[in-house]
Amino acid sequence: MSELPKGFVTASHAVLFQENEAVRCDVCAGALESAGSDDLDEGYDVHGSGLLVWTRGEERRYQEPPLCPACAAAIGVSALQRWEIEEEEG
Ligand SMILES: [Zn+2]
Repeated sequence: MSELPKGFVTASHAVLFQENEAVRCDVCAGALESAGSDDLDEGYDVHGSGLLVWTRGEERRYQEPPLCPACAAAIGVSALQRWEIEEEEG
């Protein structure tokens, strides 16, 4: 097996055919814990999702990429900051 350069990631075809495909964060590709675990404390176990909306002529498409809590929080905070900047600028 040849040595790969550092930072190079490979995946075999097995990844494409996983039986239980783990939900992965759309930003950092970190695996998200699926619901229904034994953990009864669900208060902080809610993962978020983004919402992409775009239009093409009459067609309107929606997509909700899954996000891990860390990325969802980061995106939410930066969106709020942009909102505030725009409010101040009028
Ligand atoms: Zn993430």
